[in-house]
Amino acid sequence: MGRFSGFAVTFRQMLKPRVTTRYPAVKREKPVRMHGRHVLNRYEDGMEKCIGCELCAGICPAKCIYVRGADNPPDEPVSPGERYGFVYEINYMRCIHCDLCVEACPTEAITETKLFEFSFANRSDGIYTKEQLLVADDGRARRQPWELWAGGEDDDTSAWMRATSPSGQAAYEGRIGWSGELGFGLRQPEQGQAADAPRDGIDADDTSREVGGGDGR
Ligand code: SF4
Ligand code: SF4
Repeated sequence: MGRFSGFAVTFRQMLKPRVTTRYPAVKREKPVRMHGRHVLNRYEDGMEKCIGCELCAGICPAKCIYVRGADNPPDEPVSPGERYGFVYEINYMRCIHCDLCVEACPTEAITETKLFEFSFANRSDGIYTKEQLLVADDGRARRQPWELWAGGEDDDTSAWMRATSPSGQAAYEGRIGWSGELGFGLRQPEQGQAADAPRDGIDADDTSREVGGGDGR
């Protein structure tokens, strides 16, 4: 390659759009299913969705969730069920963001934001308590001083986590199957499956098995 053809390569590259951004001032939009820092969600009436069942803790491969359930006080219930999550902790020094806890949760109590930049300087900050994980009255994550949030990284923290519809049935595409949420209400369903693509042994037109619907509670 001659001297001038080398320059031609350089100039061609200079005219192409940049692929880098001025991070962290500018952050790229995250993929819709990105697994970031968790939140514990609440219903639209403010009640906590967690019922203290410990399924998330049981399935967690990193053993980083600690839950203790307790009976709801009859006069001042915390969740709509019999029990609620009295203690809830996630150890982010161990979490691998696999999202199995989100998949296991029967009430959509635990979901993940798109925040991944949270570097803490001591071990106690790395163990998030229920008070830190529980969404605020506006339905958004309570931001900790060491977390680097940008824009809407806590938008749409749920309704995206179901990678598959019930039984993998494509006929459920576009149908709401989750409950209303504080600050957000019912979220729109994620699109993804082709409704005309029947799965093995399942008729795509068979919508007889309803999921949630309405407020889904
Ligand atoms: S994302 Fe995975 S590793 Fe992290 S708390 Fe949930 S189940 Fe455990
Ligand atoms: S977050 Fe979900 S799975 Fe975990 S204890 Fe609460 S209700 Fe059960």
